Amino acid sequence: MKSYEKLLQDNKTWAAAQIEKDPGYFERLVHLQTPEILWIGCSDSRVPANQITGTEPGEIFVHRNVANLVINTDVNLLSVLDFAANHLKVRHVIVCGHYGCGGVKAAITKNDFKPVLNMWLRNIKDVYRLHRQELDEVDSEDDRWNRLVELNVQEQIFNLAKTSIIQRAWKEEQRPDLHGWVYGLKDGIIKPVYEMKAGTPIDPLYEYDDL
Ligand SMILES: [Zn+2]
Repeated sequence: MKSYEKLLQDNKTWAAAQIEKDPGYFERLVHLQTPEILWIGCSDSRVPANQITGTEPGEIFVHRNVANLVINTDVNLLSVLDFAANHLKVRHVIVCGHYGCGGVKAAITKNDFKPVLNMWLRNIKDVYRLHRQELDEVDSEDDRWNRLVELNVQEQIFNLAKTSIIQRAWKEEQRPDLHGWVYGLKDGIIKPVYEMKAGTPIDPLYEYDDL
């Protein structure tokens, strides 16, 4: 059996098991798209949002990309953010990176990954440059890599706060709070590394006063 065919077979088994456990399961979920949380995570297959947080379908609205970046020209990310903030009215946005992130590691090499990936990874190189002094002082390569993972998450929280989408939601409804987390592949534990409550003042350069 091909790998994708096994997915379809396992899906049938899963659906049947859900119904056996709870006959009203799907019926209920159809009418339930009211998550309080938007999750922006890495596409890495080892960091599935629901499994590592023990949450069920319907509880987290998810966007994932390489190295969990918030880029202000990314229509995909911004559409998800707009929908989550203005329609689902989420109360929390979590950016969750992970130690051992291949995207972050790739960004600190000098390898040419060709145009599209180079464009994407450039954003992580910029995070390194912003924190060069601290990062250059870390002796171990792995520690430097993992610290960059944390700082990258922190910068993505700033990037969220710079958007008019977040600033408008903060002004009108004092939500959502922004949370920067890092997941450990080795122990499965999530470490909170940065938090920004709704309404936190940011660099005035990025503030909109005509929202
Ligand atoms: Zn990753």
